[in-house]
Amino acid sequence: MARALVSTQSKISKRVFLYVFNRPLNTAASSPAAAFTAPPPPLHLNPPSTPTVDFTDSRALFGSIPTSDLLHATATLHASAIGPVVDVGMWVMNSKLMDVELFRDVVLGTVKHTFYRHFCAGEDDTSVAKTVRRLHDVGLRSMLDYALEYADDEASCDRNLDGFLRTVEATKSLPSGSASFVVTKVSAICPLRLLERVSDLLRWQQKNPSFNLPWKLQTLPIFSESSPLYHTLEQPEPLTREEEKSLQISHERLMKICQSCVDANVPLAIDAEHTKVQPAIDYFTYSAAIIHNKDRNPIVYGTIQAYLKDAKDRLLLANKEASKLKIPLGIKLVRGAYMSSESKLASSLGFESPIHNTIQDTHSCYNTCASFLLDDIAKGSSGAILATHNVESGKLAATRAYEIGIGKLKQKLEFAQLYGMSEALSFGLRNAGFQVSKYMPFGPVDMVMPYLLRRAEENRGLLSASNLDRQLMRKELGRRMKEYLS
Ligand SMILES: Cc1cc2nc3c(=O)[nH]c(=O)nc-3n(C[C@H](O)[C@H](O)[C@H](O)COP(=O)(O)OP(=O)(O)OC[C@H]3O[C@@H](n4cnc5c(N)ncnc54)[C@H](O)[C@@H]3O)c2cc1C
Repeated sequence: MARALVSTQSKISKRVFLYVFNRPLNTAASSPAAAFTAPPPPLHLNPPSTPTVDFTDSRALFGSIPTSDLLHATATLHASAIGPVVDVGMWVMNSKLMDVELFRDVVLGTVKHTFYRHFCAGEDDTSVAKTVRRLHDVGLRSMLDYALEYADDEASCDRNLDGFLRTVEATKSLPSGSASFVVTKVSAICPLRLLERVSDLLRWQQKNPSFNLPWKLQTLPIFSESSPLYHTLEQPEPLTREEEKSLQISHERLMKICQSCVDANVPLAIDAEHTKVQPAIDYFTYSAAIIHNKDRNPIVYGTIQAYLKDAKDRLLLANKEASKLKIPLGIKLVRGAYMSSESKLASSLGFESPIHNTIQDTHSCYNTCASFLLDDIAKGSSGAILATHNVESGKLAATRAYEIGIGKLKQKLEFAQLYGMSEALSFGLRNAGFQVSKYMPFGPVDMVMPYLLRRAEENRGLLSASNLDRQLMRKELGRRMKEYLS
């Protein structure tokens, strides 16, 4: 389809085509090309009187996107929906050929102009700032994710800390409100092995409440009665002095990030990872939240993965304890991204998967948790990021938010989609008057490669997450073409 569109466009005079392609966002076109590139639609920054997340009008959704960007997005999403293309790409990326410098340069160069450009915000602060401003101009906000994977040693953790602090610093020169969150991963600032050890010890204490953890700070509940504890079958050794020291240093790293977020007045969203280390991540998150979340203003947001059977129980317990301590709770709600590794690990240990038995159960858990979070926002203290590409969940949450009058408190509610994914949902929610963010990974191409491979996997297949976007983008391109030719 993308190829068909490109060939139709070759009929249009080269001059006009180049003009359209190079026209900056939201500038008026004054040539015949004006008909081909729609003027930006009005942004509904105030909620309309009735709740509508509408996908019928492709112009209202994509009118603010230049034709060149729409074509690039359509082509990339189509390519990533073709299974064999993704298979070959993944094979190449994981092969020994990547050790050959020339080959590697060619592959990374190709990825940079295609998938990277589509799914990542840029290589450095300057290019990210441009992307943030571009999104801000079309009524979307940005969650800045310096896309680091996990760290193995203290030196990498320190380097990563600098990267996160630079990211927070960079938000200060951006237009007010354009950066909604800075994102961090605890596994990038605390060695992974230590996160596993701390998670084991926390699980053992959950099984045996008298088990003493001398290093443990005040936190919110990390487990519920329904939490699986199979990762820790034997009593773990206590932390060595060296491990305790490393834990303290890692905690200080997180405190530095939190403090810089307080100074820059931008909240911090902490990602959830796999269940082997998630108890330690929740421990870091909640102990930081107790220190920094004050006065109805959550600065530290943790993440709940609704695909886990114990997600709702843990959310309710953390929420209850936070209200008891009068701490505003910030939660990012996601379905969860580690499904196959979670199921594999559980079955290799002979235990039931921690993931809901059916996808319907996951959907229903997500929607119930979202509704609970919205009700809590309406009470006034909590904040929530509803991070999803699922159209039904987005619509349900939008309707619920209207019903309980959350419009007035909208700074506490953020919808979020990954950059390059579910554009229709993002613009639909924006048009309905909600705050919407794109989660924007950035960094050098080779650093974000694991992230790109996950995106390729997620968009694979005809019924993939990008299906609605591909349909609606094609519709919008067709509409612009008709308008130009008529
Ligand atoms: C802004 C943002 C931040 C994110 N942060 C994190 C994070 O910190 N940690 C994290 O783990 N993920 C994170 N994710 C990824 C997220 O968890 C999902 O992988 C992704 O968004 C797909 O879920 P969805 O809500 O968009 O729903 P959908 O598009 O409906 O996707 C549903 C998917 O859920 C899976 N699934 C879940 N449960 C089941 C089940 N029981 N049976 C079968 N399939 C099932 C399937 O793979 C299915 O494709 C984030 C996503 C966004 C948008």
